Amino acid sequence: MSQKHQDISTVIIVNKGNQRTKTIQIKTRHLGRLKHYAFGVFGVIMLLTGTIFYLRSQNQRQEQEEKQLLTQLTKLKSSIPVTDTLANKANTAQAYVQDIEGKLQKINNYLKKRGLKGFSTAAVGGNGNTEAAKLTDSETYSLYDEYLDRLVHAVAFTPMGYPRISSLTSFFGYRSDPFNSAHAEFHPGIDFRGARGDEARCTANGKVVFAGWYGGYGNCVRIAHTNNFETLYGHLSRITVKVGEDVTVGEKVGEVGSTGRSTGNHLHYEVRKNGKAVNPVSFLTLNN
Ligand SMILES: [Zn+2]
Repeated sequence: MSQKHQDISTVIIVNKGNQRTKTIQIKTRHLGRLKHYAFGVFGVIMLLTGTIFYLRSQNQRQEQEEKQLLTQLTKLKSSIPVTDTLANKANTAQAYVQDIEGKLQKINNYLKKRGLKGFSTAAVGGNGNTEAAKLTDSETYSLYDEYLDRLVHAVAFTPMGYPRISSLTSFFGYRSDPFNSAHAEFHPGIDFRGARGDEARCTANGKVVFAGWYGGYGNCVRIAHTNNFETLYGHLSRITVKVGEDVTVGEKVGEVGSTGRSTGNHLHYEVRKNGKAVNPVSFLTLNN
């Protein structure tokens, strides 16, 4: 019994400045080990604190890394050229298409001035057709390809340029009759200076519809082109093509002379549309 009593120690807690005291009874062996417990608790606290600090620093480092990555990402984003984005590529393609469209319209105007119908680009959005916006890129491109093919055809078969490179000696329209200056006559073409034997070349692809003597025109060649165009080469000293022959632009059709109603060697050149003579000057360059 007394042995058991010795095992218990009484700890008195004295409250400073106060009479009240508190007594706690604990086993003596616990009291002896108090130091060990204190060290144990201290150790655990240190370990926990260390762990917290370690985890916090880890967290901070991660946050910093995240921040750095974000900054790098922003930098990279801003360094990507604006034109490389998909939306801008589409805008550029649209701009090119509009540019082509504008040029086709310009060519159309030139063709119309020459009495040709031209072509409508409504299918690809020209002439204010908004439905065309639904076309895919390849559909749009193939339509333009078709237009260009037609254009190539129109250019090849429309009289254009000079039957021979030389100066003009007489223009289209009324002039005084070279055989009777008191009398005015209508000159249905233009005359090019030339010496006998100089080459006369056709101004567009076509088919020879006449090759022979043609009244006042003397030795004459007439070539039919598409869109009811015809070109005529007169006063030739020699004809080098036959009726029914297909000729290509720039091909020699005859030689300059002074046959028929002519006062000297020159080339008489006419452009006819639907059988009616038009001013060939409009067909010498595209800028008219
Ligand atoms: Zn003439």
